[in-house]
Amino acid sequence: MTDSLINGKTILQWAELFPQIHDITRLNELFWTNPIYQTARRQSFLSFSDLKDAEERLARFAPYIAKVFPETERDNGMIESPLVPISNMQNRLQEIYQLDFPGRLLLKCDNDLPISGSIKARGGIYEVLQFAERLVMEHDLLVKEDHYAKLADKEFQTFFSNYSIAVGSTGNLGLSIGIMSAKLGFKVYVHMSADAKKWKKDLLREKGVVVIEHASDFSEAVAQGRKQAEQDPNMYFVDDESSEHLFLGYSVAAIRLKKQLEEMNRKVNEEHPLLVYLPCGVGGGPGGVTFGLKQIFGNHVHCFFAEPTHSPSMLLGLMTGLHDKVSVQDFGIDNQTEADGLAVGRPSGFVGKLLEKVISGIYTIEDDKLFELLTILADTEGKLLEPSALAGFLGPVHIEKSDQGKDYIKKHQLNMKNATHIVWGTGGGMVPDQEMKKYYEKGKGGRSSGK
Ligand SMILES: *Cc1c(COP(=O)(O)O)cnc(C)c1O
Repeated sequence: MTDSLINGKTILQWAELFPQIHDITRLNELFWTNPIYQTARRQSFLSFSDLKDAEERLARFAPYIAKVFPETERDNGMIESPLVPISNMQNRLQEIYQLDFPGRLLLKCDNDLPISGSIKARGGIYEVLQFAERLVMEHDLLVKEDHYAKLADKEFQTFFSNYSIAVGSTGNLGLSIGIMSAKLGFKVYVHMSADAKKWKKDLLREKGVVVIEHASDFSEAVAQGRKQAEQDPNMYFVDDESSEHLFLGYSVAAIRLKKQLEEMNRKVNEEHPLLVYLPCGVGGGPGGVTFGLKQIFGNHVHCFFAEPTHSPSMLLGLMTGLHDKVSVQDFGIDNQTEADGLAVGRPSGFVGKLLEKVISGIYTIEDDKLFELLTILADTEGKLLEPSALAGFLGPVHIEKSDQGKDYIKKHQLNMKNATHIVWGTGGGMVPDQEMKKYYEKGKGGRSSGK
């Protein structure tokens, strides 16, 4: 443990203020409910109109997407994933954790998102598209009313080849930005952290993306990408730590989810609470989705984030109120996790500050559990997710079983019999079969009976 001061206090002094810090630094799993969670809707600099604007931009691009990514043709170029009941998994969780959890458990299958098989296909692709649109409009090559399929023409590719895009990533954002940018014709540089899996780098190189490997963690990879872009006026930097575009791209999921819930006859209102569990890395993905859901469902939706015990960055940021001024390393935590999508030591300050009163709570999960859950989900539902994407599954267990969870239910008078629980399955669609097999075997080996 380090002796240096964190914003003027030692770790012990922080732990006196927030006793759960003892559990965090010991890498124990914990469930934290947000003491400043506020039910009144707050004004912020982003609003529902920003969300609609992002949705409309994606609709303008849909004919182009359908043309260049034929797997999206069936949905007319909309990049969206299914929402499905997983009752076998729900039963299995109840058995393993010896509890009854009423209501309905659903999986949001972002692992099945077209193009890049993870939640990053929302924010990442949206950000590249808005940049491309801005460029061609500035150069009078396109107006909003045009049929955007023409962006697939050679002349546009040639135009885009004068520009480049850079991003820092633990893997999945790089895939999403890389694939989309290369398709449009941009030059792309992806700065990968040491956690990034080899197959992700290989795949990107195959697509013509320049992959720059860093021996350091995510925050440093982002810093390097930012530095590179600052030196080149024709280079656009996708800033995973503070991009509003990424955030709004993610948030569009909420509008689509509302429709999917209606189609399933799942009500969300005073008597029918919606609880959503989202794996969290830097915070943009889960934050964007939360922002969108709150715009639509207000107090009737409750969003919980999940982080690895070795990377509880958003948890420390929110708990201490220091946001991006604190890293897990400051608290002597190593940020080493198999959940590569969540291996982030310093949270987004932009997301933390925007949502500090909007996020209901955060819990942490051990890596071993991620693999166990991976295998259980595969066995019960035939769904294959990557380790990061399993973090959401302990949410309903904590809510129903822990004292904090029970207090939360009581305080907000949630009628749990009518609850809809949505676990956000954030990725897995691009994982090669061989890798997935290893994950599966790993989860099979160490299965515990739960606590
Ligand atoms: C990126 C990612 C997340 C978390 O998104 P952040 O924006 O980093 O918080 C969760 N799961 C997977 C699989 C991811 O790739």
